[in-house]
Amino acid sequence: MVKVVKFGGSSLASAEQFAKVGQIIHADKSRKYVVPSAPGKRNSKDTKVTDMLYACYDLAEKEEEFRVQLMKIKDRYDSIINGLSLKLSLDEEFKKISENFKAKAGKDYAASRGEYLNGIIMANYLGYTFIDAAEVVFFDENGDFDPEKTDKVLSKRLEKCENAVIPGFYGAGEDGHIVTFSRGGSDITGAIVAKACHASMYENWTDVSGCLMADPRIIDNPQPIKVITYRELRELAYMGFNVLHEDAIFPVRKAGIPINIRNTNDPEAEGTLIVESTCQRPEFTITGVAGKKGFVAVNIDKDMMNAEVGFCRKALQAFEENGILIEHMPSGIDTMTVFVHQAEFEGKEQQVISAIRRLVNPDVIELEADLALVAVVGRGMKSIRGTAGRIFSALAHANINVKMIDQGSSELNIIIGVSNADFENAIQAIYNIFVETRL
Ligand code: ASP
Repeated sequence: MVKVVKFGGSSLASAEQFAKVGQIIHADKSRKYVVPSAPGKRNSKDTKVTDMLYACYDLAEKEEEFRVQLMKIKDRYDSIINGLSLKLSLDEEFKKISENFKAKAGKDYAASRGEYLNGIIMANYLGYTFIDAAEVVFFDENGDFDPEKTDKVLSKRLEKCENAVIPGFYGAGEDGHIVTFSRGGSDITGAIVAKACHASMYENWTDVSGCLMADPRIIDNPQPIKVITYRELRELAYMGFNVLHEDAIFPVRKAGIPINIRNTNDPEAEGTLIVESTCQRPEFTITGVAGKKGFVAVNIDKDMMNAEVGFCRKALQAFEENGILIEHMPSGIDTMTVFVHQAEFEGKEQQVISAIRRLVNPDVIELEADLALVAVVGRGMKSIRGTAGRIFSALAHANINVKMIDQGSSELNIIIGVSNADFENAIQAIYNIFVETRL
């Protein structure tokens, strides 16, 4: 059995955190491949090393004095090295980094040093082989991740290593220059490594005990989710659940490898298991509830709209022409409504309205702003009667006016539109009815 373990920045922010990570790795022999992030925040006022590196490189790029900042970054690493009593010096590495900053090696190069150096420390601490991600993770000439080449090279390399540390977040482009994934991208590296070594589990260690059923800023102490499917997670992630980088799901999902979200500060907790499919009944009817504020509903009315072939296509063209993403599209006989992101729409509303006029000549176009969407997600909803009824009676009892309802045919989710002002109360009412009263 092989497990790939990825540790986030807060799990590696200090020597104390490193020590916890070491214990976790040594507690299970199957934890053979380790993917570290850069050191994160030690407390709420602290700065992540990645952010320090971006800021420092910014100075170098402007040809301003950057060495003082670079030495502050070195101090972060030195305090970890000293705290762990390692015989390791990063002097040479920092000399090289300083030269490369001066030579303007690029923003991605700069940011990648955060995980690169943490990887060197981790490998030294564990006595594992260090594999520079630039030798095994590749990007193509457009800067896009190259999964085929990476999988081929990385799996061959891992075959030769019993244990290894592979830093997260970066790889190399065609000509060898460093390219990073987007922020939070060490999650992706972990998934890529898991796929390449055919891992039986991808453990993603962070500072929370897995996914929670709702946002803890809205619900006090929400229940943890024990098991969630990839599809459920995707629905919730889209609505703001943010446990994993979205692109981390594809490599492992394709390879049928489950992900276990775990808490470095509470290693006994089982965390959340993310799987393709499960016959385990969820504890509650819903798996989670999430949502986002800031939508506009564009209502388009035209008598006999239903008899006009191509009406919807032409109306949607108005949004496409203006590069506006469409979120949801509930419709009636003579009306259709298009939900769009307010921030994106605001600057272009008049162009969109005139395009709709030109393309479909409607009777009325009305805009309703400041709306929120709430997604109630759960594989359990399909087999239980009355889920929608319970949601809407809970909302009615909470005095919340429902402005839109959209249930996908998969019955995996129900999306509800409410006004921004009702958003938190709507989440609370839905959570209470399913979790607190267990209806
Ligand atoms: N260190 C990078 C960041 O802060 C990547 C990661 O932690 O996953 O975004």
